[in-house]
Amino acid sequence: MSTEKRADLNLKIARLPIVDQCEGCQRIVEDAGAKVCGKYAEPAFHWEDGQICLMATHINIKKEAAVAKKAVNPLKASKRAAGKKK
Ligand code: SF4
Repeated sequence: MSTEKRADLNLKIARLPIVDQCEGCQRIVEDAGAKVCGKYAEPAFHWEDGQICLMATHINIKKEAAVAKKAVNPLKASKRAAGKKK
C-alpha cells in the first residue's frame, strides 16, 4: 500500500482519545481539541490486560524486560550451581 493511500485511510479512521497510561508519550497529538494517539486509533487496546504499549516513548520496555529477567528461580539456580561443581 502506498504512503498516500495509507495517509488517506488514516484520515477516515476515527481516533479514540488516549488513556491514563499514555500520559507523557510523545506520540500524543491534538485532534479537534481531544488528545489522540498519532500511531494507534484505539490506545486503550494497547494497554489492556496489563500489556505495555510497544510504541510508547515514555516507557523503556527493554529496561523493564531486563528487570524481569533478573528474577531467578531459586530451585533452578541451586541445580545450576550444583551442576557446575563437578
Ligand atoms: S503510542 Fe501507545 S502510549 Fe503512546 S499515545 Fe499511542 S497508545 Fe498511548
